[in-house]
Amino acid sequence: MLRGSVEKSDILVVGAGPVGLYLAGLLEKSGRTVRLLEEHGEIGRPGHCSGLVSRNLDLLIRPRKEWVEHEVSGSVIRAGSSSIRLTKGRTAARVIDRSRFDASLKEGLESEIVLGARAERLHAGNSGVSVKTGKGVFKADMLLGCDGASSAVARHFGSRPRRLLMGVIGITRQENHSKNVEITIDKARSRDGFFWKIPRGRTTEYGLFGSMAGSRQSRLQSGIDFLELEGFFRIKPVERKAGLIPMGPGKTYFPRTLLVGDAAGMSKPWSGGGLVYGLTAARIAANVIEQAFQEGDFSEGFLARYEKGWKKAFGNQLHAGMLGRGIFENLGDFEIRMALRGMRIFSPLLNGLDMDFLVR
Ligand SMILES: Cc1cc2nc3c(=O)[nH]c(=O)nc-3n(C[C@H](O)[C@H](O)[C@H](O)COP(=O)(O)OP(=O)(O)OC[C@H]3O[C@@H](n4cnc5c(N)ncnc54)[C@H](O)[C@@H]3O)c2cc1C
Repeated sequence: MLRGSVEKSDILVVGAGPVGLYLAGLLEKSGRTVRLLEEHGEIGRPGHCSGLVSRNLDLLIRPRKEWVEHEVSGSVIRAGSSSIRLTKGRTAARVIDRSRFDASLKEGLESEIVLGARAERLHAGNSGVSVKTGKGVFKADMLLGCDGASSAVARHFGSRPRRLLMGVIGITRQENHSKNVEITIDKARSRDGFFWKIPRGRTTEYGLFGSMAGSRQSRLQSGIDFLELEGFFRIKPVERKAGLIPMGPGKTYFPRTLLVGDAAGMSKPWSGGGLVYGLTAARIAANVIEQAFQEGDFSEGFLARYEKGWKKAFGNQLHAGMLGRGIFENLGDFEIRMALRGMRIFSPLLNGLDMDFLVR
């Protein structure tokens, strides 16, 4: 492809992360030509994610040994001297290697993936969409914003999540085959997030998330950064990762355009996990896109059924989760400790909760 040339496909997907890759695979099956634009030079890198995913993922993608690092059955949540232990008594979640997972989603795809192509300028008009990158201009009938938390597509349409939090991760070489994820709430260090420790089999992951230092949401806390993380756990990581976590979706459909996954702010408000919802939304999007092609209708009015679809699937989880988050953010350490103690009575009920679909 020549720099400056114009390339046309049925669908343009901005962002070849898990959601973009999975969605491209679904669209290919209905015979659409898809092109993915990815700003980085390699799929799955740089990484930013813990890859702790519930077994709900199995309903969307069959687990593969090559990307499963470890399995866990429960968690221990601590705040000061209070704690609660939750367990499923069987594998509840897998700890997956995100780079390998993303790479495996690329396997077998026929769609062209243009690496090193950062979407810079977008246009969605009556006759189609176009995206300008450093590798040329790309045109299509539909545009899918799967470009993560700092989505250029969402920005173009003025859609933004209600919260944008920051997560930092440090990996050490300590072998860790524990069956529990550990969570520590410490309001003085993260007013609206928590620390975590995830056993990854051959390694251990430590993490922290919450509002970014200097942001409006973080006035009451010190910064979310590697120093805070490493000081708290007294670790010297061999690998560090960081990324943004969007919560509380804005509008997700526009003329000829849908936002899917983190670009749409589809993360769980209680943990920041976004894979199950993002991939679920990709399935719903694929159906609506196929209908749009069949009807030849790419209007905003027609595409509104996508938002209706994902809201039916997990909208109430996000709504309840954002309400719960609002309460959590306003509690102090003392109240959190009391709440954890009180929750012990409900352990059997809590053990039975689904990690992604808390509200029925
Ligand atoms: C610290 C941290 C820990 C997390 N842990 C978990 C977890 O344990 N479990 C879980 O389920 N979720 C977790 N998440 C969330 C999870 O990583 C996301 O929900 C998931 O990656 C969303 O996938 P996506 O494809 O929508 O976006 P992304 O994975 O962000 O992929 C977006 C892609 O778009 C590309 N891109 C961005 N902008 C452009 C542009 N302008 N032009 C072209 N390409 C572009 C990016 O390079 C990237 O490849 C975590 C997130 C963070 C930050």
